[in-house]
Amino acid sequence: MRENDKSFILALLAVAAALWLVAVSVSEPKWPFALFLAGAALAGWAYLRYSAIHPKAASPSASAGSAAKERAPIRPVQSTIRFSDVAGLGGALEELEEIVEFFRDPKKYRRFGVQLPKGVLLSGPPGTGKTLMAKAIAGEAGVPFFYAGGSSFVHMYVGVGPKRVHELFSAARKRAPAIIFIDEIDAVGKARGGLRGDERENTLNQLLTEMDGFESREPVIVIAATNRYEMLDSALLRPGRFDRKIEVGLPNLADRQRILEIHLAQKPHTLDTHALAAKAVGFSGAALAALVNEAAIYAAKHNLSAITDEAIEAVRQKVVSLKKTGDLLGGELRQKLALYQAAKAVAAKRLDLALEPLSLRGEFIVLPSGAIEADRLLDLMAAHLAGLRSAHLAGESTASFSAPDVAIVRRLARHYREAFDPARTHSISELIVRAEALADGVIADQRAAIEALAQKLFDEESVDLALL
Ligand code: ATP
Repeated sequence: MRENDKSFILALLAVAAALWLVAVSVSEPKWPFALFLAGAALAGWAYLRYSAIHPKAASPSASAGSAAKERAPIRPVQSTIRFSDVAGLGGALEELEEIVEFFRDPKKYRRFGVQLPKGVLLSGPPGTGKTLMAKAIAGEAGVPFFYAGGSSFVHMYVGVGPKRVHELFSAARKRAPAIIFIDEIDAVGKARGGLRGDERENTLNQLLTEMDGFESREPVIVIAATNRYEMLDSALLRPGRFDRKIEVGLPNLADRQRILEIHLAQKPHTLDTHALAAKAVGFSGAALAALVNEAAIYAAKHNLSAITDEAIEAVRQKVVSLKKTGDLLGGELRQKLALYQAAKAVAAKRLDLALEPLSLRGEFIVLPSGAIEADRLLDLMAAHLAGLRSAHLAGESTASFSAPDVAIVRRLARHYREAFDPARTHSISELIVRAEALADGVIADQRAAIEALAQKLFDEESVDLALL
């Protein structure tokens, strides 16, 4: 019960007592008792009204519960995850092993005056194993793992965010060597601006102060994860803060197979993991883990003796919508997609357009942000149409994956009319027909190159652009 509740009840009892005293002084024998009852009833009624308006105040257990939650002690976990539980570490493994070494044998490094890293930033799309990787570092190094979600700092009342950050760091220092993991750091560390002095900014400042405050000799490392690196405040990335960055991308074919094997390790199954991984283009580690888990539930529910292709097929749609990932590609669809992407890539290269790394799924032609000449706009339209045209020429439908390119082409055509044809002498479809003719010309000229690239994409999924 809070202090002001107590004084409220005392005040009501005082009113009841005053009425009783008045009644006694009037000295009519029945009056004192009747007036006391009336006073008590009035007090009870007022208290019930007050409880309805202030439910928390009236419920001691509720208020005690929330206070306890706010003050819940910060406890670490002892991670049992190892690097072998994480697939696709690739180039990052060396850097991660080095961090583990710092923890295991700090003296070895201090002898040479090496500064221990304070902050490591893991950047990549959702579900690619960033949390898992941080847990693996803690597990390998055998140090306590303090987990905090970035958004949990900023949902709280004024002043609580900075206080929680301070408590987190104090708790970790007490248990040093230790790892602090902050998931979704962008919730706290978005670039500052707008209203100054708001809760998020204070929390970010506290985080910076804590990181500056601990000596690099103190073996506490902060690992943070984000899938919006570009939004982070530059102050976070300065030397002595999160000055190490590890990019975590979507898994490639070999990594996807390994992830499937890790998650199938203890489960009876008849799956060809290579074939399944080849179909799961664009799947994150989390999506693959969900696919295996849902298929295992299906197999158990239907009394199958093992996880089979049938079980995967049955749960596929559910996982696709749950994890918002592309569907599993059958062999034929994979072939179509490879040809589509190859035609686009070869056309873009021949038309001298800027390209990003090329893979089976996803956009790779760079759209310029500044002013652009009319001819270049037509080239861009032609390259975006090349996949569609090559499929069309082969009598195939591309409806399932050409929609984003068609949308880009229409946008470019509208832009062309606004910038270069204000009198509207050409319709949008006329412009598209011109770009199609340009694309058809490149395709006819480069058929062999397109087919070779399509085969390579089909087999390997991603191709070094220098080879084009
Ligand atoms: P988010 O950005 O959404 O927080 P995240 O990148 O931190 O995601 P995790 O939470 O680590 O991803 O991944 C979720 C689960 O997916 C893991 O617990 C694991 O089961 C599986 N997983 C993801 N990536 C991998 C991987 N590389 N190897 C093995 N399992 C993985």
